[in-house]
Amino acid sequence: MSLYTKKLISLRDWHRVLHIYAKEFSTSKAMAKSKYEYVRTFEFEDRCLQNCWIVVRLDGRSFHRFTSSHKFEKPNDKRALELMNRSAAAVMEEFRDVSLAYGQSDEYSFILRKNTDLYNRRQSKIMSAINSIFSASYVYYWNTFFEDKKLLYPPSFDARIVLYPTDQNLRDYLSWRQADTHINNLYNTAFWGLISMKGLSNNEAEKVLSGTVSSEKNEILFKECGTNYNNELPIYRKGTVLVRKLVNLPPSKSKKHVICPLHVDIIGDSFWEEYNEILNLKDLILNKDFKPDDIFYLVKRS
Ligand code: ATP
Ligand code: ATP
Ligand code: MG
Ligand code: MG
Repeated sequence: MSLYTKKLISLRDWHRVLHIYAKEFSTSKAMAKSKYEYVRTFEFEDRCLQNCWIVVRLDGRSFHRFTSSHKFEKPNDKRALELMNRSAAAVMEEFRDVSLAYGQSDEYSFILRKNTDLYNRRQSKIMSAINSIFSASYVYYWNTFFEDKKLLYPPSFDARIVLYPTDQNLRDYLSWRQADTHINNLYNTAFWGLISMKGLSNNEAEKVLSGTVSSEKNEILFKECGTNYNNELPIYRKGTVLVRKLVNLPPSKSKKHVICPLHVDIIGDSFWEEYNEILNLKDLILNKDFKPDDIFYLVKRS
């Protein structure tokens, strides 16, 4: 037998060994499966379409009741809005692919980068994980914002997921939510103004406002309640947008990743020009305009 034939035989034997090993492995793996394993096949594929922006929106369940049970200040309890912001920042700390979040009242929208691979883009995983982190954080941070108020029962949130194929669709979505903030807040400010400053009943205030357009509500607020709507806090008028920034933090001056709450217009172009990395999927660059006196949440994990 030539050396060459010998080599061939030993190679063939080696393949046989491998084959047996593979067989044994798959048999033992098959044996590890229980007869119940087939139920997995009932699960369905729920991957978000590629190249689309993924938006998860949470909304407080029956917060009309929750806010009255906990005696929130009307029309806006600032502590509650800040608690919502803190909880949303916790979601952004956990998931780097959430590039922006927008919140108002009892709702928060989370925008995931359109190329995200989080949970293989599985809808149910993404939506449930975000809702769970947010809801748990809302309870966890409750006392930080409501020091003197006991949480009377567990708050909960519903969630939905929506895909937007174009940048314009995404911007229109966010514009829709911010326009909603304006409409609701103007109405609520006028409604509660008429009640607290003019002594009207809920029904009377509702009647005064019914059928009025924005400019009329502004006028009622100014004439009847002496309130200039434009002087209301931006957090009430604009809601909160959470963005990521890379900044130098004193005293170390080392670069830190932070999440900043802003109360600015996100309907016009200037926000999107300033934070152009969001739509362009670019990495953050050092933000030199950052003032450490502003509120921010430090992202600890790398
Ligand atoms: P659903 O379960 O259908 O969402 P809901 O009662 O939560 O019902 P929403 O339309 O979501 O209805 O309205 C939220 C309610 O919570 C409104 O009444 C709003 O005024 C109140 N609310 C939310 N945040 C605050 C806040 N920071 N201060 C005062 N009231 C608030
Ligand atoms: P994933 O986010 O993918 O679910 P995971 O770390 O949660 O990751 P699981 O497969 O869900 O992975 O496993 C849960 C882990 O938690 C296991 O390591 C399990 O041993 C541990 N665990 C769960 N409940 C208990 C418990 N009551 N006591 C001790 N360990 C537990
Ligand atoms: Mg709600
Ligand atoms: Mg709501």
